[in-house]
Amino acid sequence: MSVVLELTGVGKSYLRGGERIHALREFDFVLAAGEFVVVTGPSGSGKSTLLHIAGGLDAPDTGTVRFRDTDVWAMGANARSAFRRRNLGFVFQFFNLVPMLTAVENVSLPLVLDGVPARVADERARTLLGRVGLGARAEHRPAELSGGQMQRVSVARAMVAEPALLLADEPTGNLDSGSSAEVLAVVRELAAEQDAAVIMVTHDPAMVEFGSRHLGLVDGRAHELVPDAADGR
Ligand code: ADP
Ligand code: MG
Repeated sequence: MSVVLELTGVGKSYLRGGERIHALREFDFVLAAGEFVVVTGPSGSGKSTLLHIAGGLDAPDTGTVRFRDTDVWAMGANARSAFRRRNLGFVFQFFNLVPMLTAVENVSLPLVLDGVPARVADERARTLLGRVGLGARAEHRPAELSGGQMQRVSVARAMVAEPALLLADEPTGNLDSGSSAEVLAVVRELAAEQDAAVIMVTHDPAMVEFGSRHLGLVDGRAHELVPDAADGR
């Protein structure tokens, strides 16, 4: 088994109104290449905290985050940004697209920032947009797209640099059920095609079926939930 990500003893707490909130407690987690983990838990259970720490966006108070052979939190901030661009893809609930850029410019941005020649980045971005069914929308700005279309642009952007790990935080939290299904389908297809591991967090238990593995979070503690012992997985 090739390990992509390993969290060991990760803890994170916040001080709020004099009270300490434990967002994540003693969290241990090993993710293998190609796994698709769905993390469910109620609002406030630590899902976003987990993704931000795993993705090198927020520092843990305790514990370590290793991506392959790299200690993510031992790097300097600039090195960590470059590391994120090359190895990780992010999809957020509210898309986080750049409003002034067209769909194809949004998708090519991670490559351009990483020094890929503009023409190559543009071509690669158009290919990805085609893969998420938006080839005809390449020149549209986010405001001219529906929520589901914006999220498919986000998925294309997240996968354009062929990351080993995709982190998705409530990617369908703002979408109707039809658009949600389209977004989940492109996530699954592109991840499988690129052999990327996925961690998708959601408060929606119905999404569990999309993963190969299910983790439940309650008050910052994780419980591995076995799908169905009877079918021998
Ligand atoms: P989820 O994504 O599952 O809703 P979060 O990871 O966002 O949960 O939050 C976990 C807990 O940590 C919640 O109680 C939340 O209010 C608290 N929390 C998260 N971020 C902060 C912050 N920046 N400052 C204070 N408390 C925070
Ligand atoms: Mg959240």
